[in-house]
Amino acid sequence: MSVRGRPSGLSSLCSQSSVGGMGCGVGGPVVGHLVGSTCSSSSASRVGSAGSLVGVGAGVPSLEGEVGCPDCAALYPITDDALLHNLHTRYKRDQIYTYVGTGLISVNPYRRLALYTPEVINAYRSTCVFHLPPHIYAVADAAHRGVWERNMDQVVVVTGESGAGKTEAAKLVLQYVGYSCHNNRLLQSNPILEAFGNARTRRNDNSSRFGKYLEMEFDHTGEPVGGSITHCEYNKSRVTSQAAGERNFHIFYQLLAGADIQTLKSLRLQRNVENYILLQAPRHCPTDVLDDRTEYNITKRTLDALGMTQEEQLEVLKVVAAVLKLGNLTFTSVNNIDGTEGCSNENEYELHEVCELLSCEVSTLTGALQTRTVEARGETVVAELSAIDATRTRDALCRALYNRLFTWVVSRVNEAIKVKTMGRRKVLGILDIFGFEILETNSFEQLIINFCNEKLHQVLTEVTLKHTQEDYLREGIDWSPIDVPTNNAVVDLIEQRQTGVLAVIEEVSSRVGGGTDALLQQLSFSCGGHSLFDIKGGRHAHSDNNIPTDSFRIRHYAGSVTYTVYGFIEKNCDALHRDLTRSLYRCNHRILKELFPEGNPRRTTLKRPASVGTQVLISVSALMRTLRSKTPHLIACIKPNELKQPRILESALVLHQIKYLGLVEQARVRCEGWSYKGTHEGFLSRYAMLSLHTWPTWRGAPLEGCALLLADLPITPTQYTFGRTKVFIKSQRAIHELEEYRRERL
Ligand code: ADP
Ligand code: MG
Repeated sequence: MSVRGRPSGLSSLCSQSSVGGMGCGVGGPVVGHLVGSTCSSSSASRVGSAGSLVGVGAGVPSLEGEVGCPDCAALYPITDDALLHNLHTRYKRDQIYTYVGTGLISVNPYRRLALYTPEVINAYRSTCVFHLPPHIYAVADAAHRGVWERNMDQVVVVTGESGAGKTEAAKLVLQYVGYSCHNNRLLQSNPILEAFGNARTRRNDNSSRFGKYLEMEFDHTGEPVGGSITHCEYNKSRVTSQAAGERNFHIFYQLLAGADIQTLKSLRLQRNVENYILLQAPRHCPTDVLDDRTEYNITKRTLDALGMTQEEQLEVLKVVAAVLKLGNLTFTSVNNIDGTEGCSNENEYELHEVCELLSCEVSTLTGALQTRTVEARGETVVAELSAIDATRTRDALCRALYNRLFTWVVSRVNEAIKVKTMGRRKVLGILDIFGFEILETNSFEQLIINFCNEKLHQVLTEVTLKHTQEDYLREGIDWSPIDVPTNNAVVDLIEQRQTGVLAVIEEVSSRVGGGTDALLQQLSFSCGGHSLFDIKGGRHAHSDNNIPTDSFRIRHYAGSVTYTVYGFIEKNCDALHRDLTRSLYRCNHRILKELFPEGNPRRTTLKRPASVGTQVLISVSALMRTLRSKTPHLIACIKPNELKQPRILESALVLHQIKYLGLVEQARVRCEGWSYKGTHEGFLSRYAMLSLHTWPTWRGAPLEGCALLLADLPITPTQYTFGRTKVFIKSQRAIHELEEYRRERL
């Protein structure tokens, strides 16, 4: 044998019998922990033998005590029920993480577990992953290694519904990767994003109301050198209206509870939440003042740490305070002498204070809120607004101020964390978008969220399951295709040019006087024939078509959702009248000028700003391009119950998620597929050093070199195969051990 020394771990590759402790028996059924399904050894390859853990100290993760199957790809048979049973068995023992091949399932424990200590981080950094229980750190480690060992861009994609644990998972990945880097500003910036972008909802006390894509950048030595945050907000309406039992964005409550008297005074605020209409949710929502106070201090410290000056911070808080106070303005109807309807503001004092905060003339803001300049036949006419219209304008102003401030804060954070050095860089991205949502009443926001989820699901199915199988066929290796259901039809229904749901909304929005009725009619005309679309009077009326007249229904991959079209057009346009943008631009407040550039009178282009639907289509397709260009690592988060309680796993709820997340298909492709693939040349150049036949230089054909190299390595022939241009290796463990061996040799 011509192997250059023998790696200690490689012995396990020669014989299957050494694989699998913990009830994952060898070959056929064994007495396992699962009823009706067992772990088979062939793909239980991530599970090392418990013997290797001798000498491991307390507090360090160990394979001892692992129950069920740590890798769902090793279940036999692989069915939805078997997966459910496995996850449940493990969840009962606080084993919330389970692999599906290289992917990970995480079931929300709803309580702090001792899984994230520095000892655990160190264990996953220093020990081969096969000797450790499944963990999110193993995924983070694989992504990190992909960057610095393989020099390839990586992306960790976190999926799951609201409250499933996506944002926590994203933070843990960031924590792991940034652990050694003391100045991990990307991680440090998180409290700011949460303060401004998160809110308490019924499904999640700390729900992110925006989607985010974080990118850590590394230099050629693998050191993190900076990063960036891309966000897409979707919950614009929360500022001015919240569902029963939900709260506005955290920052409002934090500010009132946590700011010192002096700051409150300079912001013209009172401490009591009840003084602000925007914070009075329709039904009482418990507010823990102590928590809000603590969080305020954290937010404040984070702003300091990112280098934001006290003046800058005050400018930001002034906008937050102005939003709160604007929300208190009430307009009442006034009948003018000429018979027209006008309005008057009942709360002059509050308006004065808003103007002080924003450094703006009272007359300017009054004019912007209560009148409208209309240009007709070359003449400029100033018309008074009715009380209803003035109230609408006030709300639009609150939303615009807050949302643009959020965007400004994110770009300020980006400024602080961006890479300041030159040179070649690789990135590790983390995608945490909002999860699929089905509420009692679903509006435009839900359509946008669910569409983003459909796109993500489509791309992930493509890159993980479809492409993998197509590659096997292209390479000519033996493969019986596994059927993977796609959601292309529903994606087309929503995004198709001209006839898709978004295009129809867009078209009706641009019509003069286009409203709800026109939208329903056009939707019925354009989409009524689609098998996944239901609407009253639609051509494809289904037997269960009990849809209200103001709604339509889409059958999404994760369930049917009925959308109420009321407000769709306004939410899609989301344009601010020029009177408003101009008056805000004229304020003597530094940030406002940046927030409302279109208010600059010197700007002559009067192009209509892109609608929300159009913006979403553009940003989602950019995001999907980013995803496709990187090596993906998947984390599927599962919500075990609707009560946000620990130790409860509702089977029906979890089964539904297992189904729509496509976990069975993933497990099957992983089980029967190959976990490593690389070109003949690539494999040879990386591992040639492990064999005297190919080292130091191999001059023959790459395929031949690979064959010689593999014959020299203690990998059984069933563990690898050659395609037309690539080498495939069955178990992850094998490739992992090759890597370890290579490291030893370097
Ligand atoms: P999502 O982003 O999917 O909506 P979050 O990540 O905000 O959900 O999680 C919701 C809540 O669940 C968190 O606030 C936290 O209380 C709990 N949670 C989620 N993941 C974990 C975890 N790994 N350990 C402990 N609690 C968790
Ligand atoms: Mg979240």
